Amino acid sequence: MKRVVVVGASGSIGRQTLEVARARRDRIRVVGLAALRDDAFLVEAARAFDVAALAFADAEAARRAEARLRSLGQGDVRVEGGPGAVARLAAWPEADLVVSAAWGAAGLEATLAALEAGHDVALANKESLVVGGELVVRLARARGARLLPVDSEHSAAFQLWQGRAHEMRRLWLTASGGPFHGRPRQELEQARPAEALRPPTWRMGARITVDSATLFNKGLEVIEAHWLFGLPYEAIEVVVHPESRVHAIAELKDGSFLAHVGPPDMRLPIQYALSWPERWEPAVEPEPPTGWGALRFQPVDREAFPALDLCYEAGRRGGTAPAALNAAKEEAVLAFLAGRIPLGEVVRTAEEALRRVAWRPATREALLLADAEARALARERIARCEGYARGEEGARP
Ligand code: MG
Repeated sequence: MKRVVVVGASGSIGRQTLEVARARRDRIRVVGLAALRDDAFLVEAARAFDVAALAFADAEAARRAEARLRSLGQGDVRVEGGPGAVARLAAWPEADLVVSAAWGAAGLEATLAALEAGHDVALANKESLVVGGELVVRLARARGARLLPVDSEHSAAFQLWQGRAHEMRRLWLTASGGPFHGRPRQELEQARPAEALRPPTWRMGARITVDSATLFNKGLEVIEAHWLFGLPYEAIEVVVHPESRVHAIAELKDGSFLAHVGPPDMRLPIQYALSWPERWEPAVEPEPPTGWGALRFQPVDREAFPALDLCYEAGRRGGTAPAALNAAKEEAVLAFLAGRIPLGEVVRTAEEALRRVAWRPATREALLLADAEARALARERIARCEGYARGEEGARP
């Protein structure tokens, strides 16, 4: 029996993790759930899974959850809220494994807390490695804790890698390409949420769907792969594969290629991270090769999708560069989803932060500082853009 804490439990990956846990009650016991503020969902899940502890980043949500549980006669569930509450649950000694699935750079704190406590981490929060790769990898090694990738491409690569690291030459990450693949750059530039959120091959939250449309998501995954597999950036490639059935391809020393194939369903990589080193019965109905259809592989149009090379650049610069790029991107994605800026502006906002936020070596303090500076810069630029769109004099960014 694995005792599991799920951080980011109300998000898309969190909910799919609970689906896997529900089907595997014989192997998984969910002992703790954490979220930003969705108290209604967490109280429901706490009852369904007989969970012992809840944590919320938002103190008000914790108070609501506590009151509701008490009124249901379940006042014995431990509830904590406010700064540090989620990290404390991630470090809880009652857990064996923590699923780190919060959104964005905010997920780093829980990942570090879990590793610090010596827990294995099923990592869905790619920003933990994008922002804090150096710290996270060092801490995992020092504590003898495992990082088990949940991101589908990295789960695939992890499965291709095991026992074969010395034979590897290059890793190919696949990208669905999003709704703007093969379209003129202008369409992405001016896109509004309705165009960027067209249903992709994967079931994902809105923010990651936007990141998939710009290829920021793939760029962040390149940095994630760099840290997970210790690969230089020259050895990580991206290929567009619209069918999303091949998740990663390992290029071997002798020129042969191994591909990992599966349906585009996150429950598969989630289950593998939970079951490792075992492999359990299928989480979803297996699809025989006769059902795969044609599989296409195409180069990325790097002119139309500059976000990918911005991520390579930030990754190569290291230090606080990826933190600055990512923080500005997060602010811009929220502004985009609120209808304040077009999609092309998300990429330019992130680029401006990469160019202007001072580079520092990656210490905990420097990462927080770069994050804050990049967000301030992004907010200022977003406000300028809105001003320009309203026709204000001299507001052009
Ligand atoms: Mg992915």
